[in-house]
Amino acid sequence: MKIVVLPGDGIGPETMAVTVDVLQAASKRFNLGLELMHDIAGHASLQQHGATVTPALLEKVKNADGLMLGPMATYDFKDEAKGEINPSKFFRKSLDLFANIRPARTYPGVKTITSAFDLVVVRENTEGFYADRNVESGNSEILVTPDVAISLRRITRECCERIARSAFELAMQRKRHLTLVHKHNVLKVTDGMFLDACHRVAKDFPEVTVDDFIVDAMMAHVVRAPARFDVIVTTNMFGDILSDLTAELSGSLGLGGSLNAGLNNAMGQAAHGSAPDIAGQDIANPFSLVLSASMLLSWHAQRSGNAAYLQAAQAIDQAVEDCIANGECTRDVGGKLGTHATGQAVVKRLG
Ligand code: NAD
Repeated sequence: MKIVVLPGDGIGPETMAVTVDVLQAASKRFNLGLELMHDIAGHASLQQHGATVTPALLEKVKNADGLMLGPMATYDFKDEAKGEINPSKFFRKSLDLFANIRPARTYPGVKTITSAFDLVVVRENTEGFYADRNVESGNSEILVTPDVAISLRRITRECCERIARSAFELAMQRKRHLTLVHKHNVLKVTDGMFLDACHRVAKDFPEVTVDDFIVDAMMAHVVRAPARFDVIVTTNMFGDILSDLTAELSGSLGLGGSLNAGLNNAMGQAAHGSAPDIAGQDIANPFSLVLSASMLLSWHAQRSGNAAYLQAAQAIDQAVEDCIANGECTRDVGGKLGTHATGQAVVKRLG
C-alpha cells in the first residue's frame, strides 16, 4: 500500500510525525510493506511551489492507494489566484471523496460530561453549504452589494443517495440503527430531497432501523443521551458541526478520527484544524490523526481483501485505547505526556 503523507500546518508536522511512526510500527508488525511517500501541502508548499497544492501532487495521490492529510491553516488561504487553495477541499473535490466518516466514542480513563457512547457521523462531503465546492467554477457566496450577501446550498439527489447508501452499509456492520439529521421544517426542498433519498435507499436495507431528528434538536439529544445513536447521516455543514460536538463529547477534539472516502480513493484527515494556539509546543493530541490513519488501513483492507490491514488497524485502535486507559496520553485527555512521547507509547504497545 502506497500512502502519500502531507504533514500540513500548525500542529500538523508534530502529529503527522507520530502518525508516521505508528504506521511504520504497524507495517513492521503485520508485514504490510507500507510505502510512505512524503510530500508537502499548505504553507510549506505555498512557499516552495507558489501554491498550497499542485497538479503534480494530485497526480501522485491518484497513483497511490491512500492519502494522509495533516490539518491545514484553511483560514489563511483566501485567494486561489495567489495559489491559496484549500487543500482539504482540493482533494475532496478532485478525488470525489464524498463520504466523510467521523467516529466518536468514549474511552475508559477519559472524563466526559456524558454517559458512555460509540457512534459514527457520516457527513456528505462534496456539496451542501460549502461555497468552494458546490459550483463548477467560481464560488457560491456572492456579495450582491457591500451590505447584501448570499450563500447558496446545493443538494442533489445523486449525492444524497450515495451518502445514504454509505451510511446504511456502515449501519449494517454495526448496530443496524441509522439516524437522519436535517432541517426539513425550514429547508423543505433541499432537506426534503435528502430525506426522500435516504428513505428510498432504506428500502434496500430493511434490517436497519431508521429515525430522524431536526438538527437543532439533535444537538440536545446527542448531549443528553449519545448512547441512543449508532450511525448518523447528514448533509455537509450539519455533519461538520455535529461531528466536532461528538468528538468533544468523547473527551477532546483531539480524539476525533476522520476518513474521507470515495469509490477509488480515500484520505485520512484529523477532524480538527491546525490549532495554531498550541502549535510547536509538543502538547497536541496526536490520536485524531493516528486514528484517521487506522481508518485508512481499514478502508484499504476492505478494498483489497487483505485482512492484515484490518488487523493492523485494530491493533492501532487497541494501542490508543490502552495508552489512554494508562494515562499515556496528552493533557487534553488527562495524561501528562507530550505529543512525541505519546506516539512512542503507542509504538511500544504495537511491539
Ligand atoms: P482547531 O480545530 O484548529 O482548534 C480548535 C481548538 O481545539 C483549539 O483550542 C485547539 O488548540 C484545540 N485542538 C485542536 N486540535 C487539537 C489537538 N489535536 N490536541 C489538542 N487540542 C486541539 O480550530 P480553529 O482554531 O478554529 O482553526 C485553526 C485553523 O485550522 C484555521 O485556519 C481553520 O480554517 C483550520 N481548520 C482546518 C481544518 C482541516 O484541515 N480539516 C478543520 C478545521 C479548521
